[in-house]
Amino acid sequence: MRPFAVAAGRGRHFERLPRWPGKFLVGGDAALTLNPIYALGMTAAGLGALTLEACLRAQRHQRPRPAELAQCFHTRLAEATAGLWRTVMREDHTGR
Ligand SMILES: Cc1cc2nc3c(=O)[nH]c(=O)nc-3n(C[C@H](O)[C@H](O)[C@H](O)COP(=O)(O)OP(=O)(O)OC[C@H]3O[C@@H](n4cnc5c(N)ncnc54)[C@H](O)[C@@H]3O)c2cc1C
Repeated sequence: MRPFAVAAGRGRHFERLPRWPGKFLVGGDAALTLNPIYALGMTAAGLGALTLEACLRAQRHQRPRPAELAQCFHTRLAEATAGLWRTVMREDHTGR
């Protein structure tokens, strides 16, 4: 048996990058890894799916613009998961 080695949370702010490769989005654990003990990883992944839907809907009347879609997705994903991140970090650091 092998224990799971990464118990710390890790968030990556792709929305802050000045440039972004076209047609490439990052969600799920690749964007935000939460300590598995809180069982919130699938919630974060689900928020990513809802975020993508919202961004696609916002662009549905215009020609596809991959860079705008990526900016919308990464910005809104960071906002959508900020509460999860704060909760898990507070628990990890203070136990409250
Ligand atoms: C021990 C443990 C327990 C957990 N328990 C819970 C829980 O109870 N509830 C909960 O909500 N969350 C839980 N999680 C978190 C949850 O599993 C993850 O948040 C979720 O699976 C993330 O989904 P994902 O699609 O981003 O990544 P993953 O589910 O990891 O999927 C990534 C996939 O990409 C594949 N892959 C990787 N590299 C490559 C490559 N180079 N080329 C092609 N394919 C590649 C991998 O094989 C994998 O199939 C737990 C995590 C762990 C580690």
